[in-house]
Amino acid sequence: TEETLVLVKPDGVARGLTGAILARIEAKGYALVDIRLVEPERATLEQHYAEHEGKPFYEPLLEFMLSGPSVAIRLAGNRVIEGFRSLAGTTDPTTAAPGTIRGDFGRDWGLAVQQNLVHGSDSPESAARELAIWF
Ligand code: ATP
Repeated sequence: TEETLVLVKPDGVARGLTGAILARIEAKGYALVDIRLVEPERATLEQHYAEHEGKPFYEPLLEFMLSGPSVAIRLAGNRVIEGFRSLAGTTDPTTAAPGTIRGDFGRDWGLAVQQNLVHGSDSPESAARELAIWF
């Protein structure tokens, strides 16, 4: 088994989609090991998004992530890192496949690629690093 960090980002929480997203995660059979509502400090987000520092979307992304609480989930399951990213869909909800979280719930508007509802770690190394930041 494997663990990953999933975040329901501020847009997902504000739109009342936490339950719908959790339902998909649970239907897949993944185990909720830990879950909490978090209002992160800026320093936490700087750590989490360190790889994007300096990119044009970095500052707006941090501001968005500071705009309200997120739900942080420690999720366990067989190949859950790859599996959750498949459940989430591609980064930009505008073109994410139907049947994925981003494809079904992401709004087609200017900020869709930023406000894409969820985060999931992209490798075992990222998962270990990110779980230590959020839990
Ligand atoms: P995540 O890591 O959050 O699961 P991802 O791996 O699909 O998403 P990354 O490329 O790691 O995407 O980008 C991290 C986050 O930064 C994205 O989820 C999105 O919120 C934001 N982001 C990425 N690219 C852009 C962009 N071009 N414009 C605005 N925001 C962006």
